[in-house]
Amino acid sequence: METEFKSKFGTKVAHVDTWDTPSDTSVWYNIMCDCTDDSHDISVEFEYDKDANMLFLNFYKQINYSKEFNYVFENDTLIDSIKNKIGVIWRRLKDATKLLFTGYIEMSGDFVLKDKQHIQDFIDAMVEGRDFCLEKNPPVLINDELVDGEAGC
Ligand SMILES: [Zn+2]
Repeated sequence: METEFKSKFGTKVAHVDTWDTPSDTSVWYNIMCDCTDDSHDISVEFEYDKDANMLFLNFYKQINYSKEFNYVFENDTLIDSIKNKIGVIWRRLKDATKLLFTGYIEMSGDFVLKDKQHIQDFIDAMVEGRDFCLEKNPPVLINDELVDGEAGC
């Protein structure tokens, strides 16, 4: 009988879900940002794709448009506010055009790890997730090296 997976995490690094299906083995963690804004958290998924025989490490995070500057100052007049808004719209239009013709724009997302235990839990979650996926799919490993050494990224 298969034993249920028990993660050791539960505070700033939280185990979210785990599954092992005929097509993939996955384990999910939520890594909390120390600034406590939930929108900064990172979801990390270890996914072992059984058809491709590859272990993927996927990060999911809300990222923001990095040129979304629209500072509002106490002494701003209505004209200042309108100029700021037009500036934001102009930058969005320029980058939307760049995205259309080049396929990329610069975006960013902040994430804060400030205490040592939080960092260690992040590292330990990486090890726990890796071990879970690889223990469920042992034929892929020979002497701790992947049989098909090339990554698919
Ligand atoms: Zn944050």
